[in-house]
Amino acid sequence: MSLKKFLLEEKDIPTAWYNITADMKNKPRPILNPGTKQPVKEEELYPLFAKALAHQELNQTDAWIEIPGEVREMYKIWRPTPLVRAYGLEKALDTPAHIYFKNESVSPVGSHKLNSAIAQAYFCKQEGVTNITTETGAGQWGAAMSYAAKVFGLELAVYMVKISYHQKPYRRSIMQTFGAQVIASPSMSTKAGRKILTDHPNYQGSLGTAISEAVELAIQTPNCKYVLGSVLSHVMLHQTVIGLEAEKQMELAGEYPDVVIGCFGGGSNFSGISFPFLRHKLNEGKEIRIVAAEPASCPKLTRGAFQYDFGDEAGYTPLIPMFTLGHNFAPAHIHAGGLRYHGAGSIVSQLRKDGYMEAVDIKQLDSFAAATLFAQAEGIIPAPESAHAIAAAIQEANQAKEEGKQRTILFNLSGHGLIDMAAYDQYFAGDLGNYELSDEEVNAKLADLEKII
Ligand SMILES: *Cc1c(COP(=O)(O)O)cnc(C)c1O
Repeated sequence: MSLKKFLLEEKDIPTAWYNITADMKNKPRPILNPGTKQPVKEEELYPLFAKALAHQELNQTDAWIEIPGEVREMYKIWRPTPLVRAYGLEKALDTPAHIYFKNESVSPVGSHKLNSAIAQAYFCKQEGVTNITTETGAGQWGAAMSYAAKVFGLELAVYMVKISYHQKPYRRSIMQTFGAQVIASPSMSTKAGRKILTDHPNYQGSLGTAISEAVELAIQTPNCKYVLGSVLSHVMLHQTVIGLEAEKQMELAGEYPDVVIGCFGGGSNFSGISFPFLRHKLNEGKEIRIVAAEPASCPKLTRGAFQYDFGDEAGYTPLIPMFTLGHNFAPAHIHAGGLRYHGAGSIVSQLRKDGYMEAVDIKQLDSFAAATLFAQAEGIIPAPESAHAIAAAIQEANQAKEEGKQRTILFNLSGHGLIDMAAYDQYFAGDLGNYELSDEEVNAKLADLEKII
């Protein structure tokens, strides 16, 4: 029997993050100041973000950005993460494909989010910031940021999407255990929150609204910055440790992936696993397929439009060139809360436009069927978000079987689902649906967007 898992040592943790924009022929279009419609200058981001992060956000020239020693020290707590050959899943599928997954669920908070949370808290601390604000959907980013804030002695306020606040009370407890203040969004504590509550008193919240509230509080509070867990280019950058490790581990396995898959919310874990591999395609013309797996209920990459849009509901953020369903798109309340975001980051959007990657949409019931099969075959209960990547990997493996060909598949297991068992319960009880969108619904939102921007 060949090896089941491929481990690296602490010394193999990457010393630099990979900035893919340096290697892209067509750079992502600039983010725009919504007032002037001119490209945002670095200084304009300073009220919102730590300077080092603002610099990383706009850096399109340096392919490698050194990881600070203190961040790397923290990474050592759980990195390098294992790369696992999913023999159990291969057998269950009776496929000739070789399936590998990178297991980011082994981080202390159970997801890949800590890779960027630690980095962002570090850079804020370096600049004398004392308070930070953020938003969280399903609670994974909030949990990661709460721990990272505690490590670096920062006070954190988290706006948590209201439906998750009530549906996932233990995520809130986790954040509170790490010492964060958690507020259900929309709230009465901000202008953005009050406005939406006045218009829609029963609104259950969205990531877009929670971002508006966190941004507003950060701008109004002295010595306070805002941090975001996805979408922005500096977050994608920090997550590349995933793919850089996986690259070495695939070498240990003696294989190179034909296809690399990540589930897709705003794009951070997808970018993390795929960009280091994509660099071989950009720089050496290597054949490799990159696939983003998004929920059918929030299909920005498969059915959205490529255009400038806001990152948040209220329109406080710069305009971002993205595949989007419109910043006031309210996705169905699927359990993969981390995938309920209206747009995709600017780097991924450009790559998608230029044909460097593909996207598939996965229905909620298919994601849970894949999650259950994976759990039974590999002994790990995946996060409902990660289940979308598993479902896409299974489709690839089944295709390989039909064609009777070997195919090497790598996917990112972005997190575990041990705090999502209520969602599994509903699935087993037959209480979950698929929430597909009609073309009319998608087109109506996109038409709205054209009117606004
Ligand atoms: C947040 C989250 C996602 C989605 O966010 P991306 O930025 O698209 O990676 C996926 N999986 C897990 C486990 C998450 O917590």
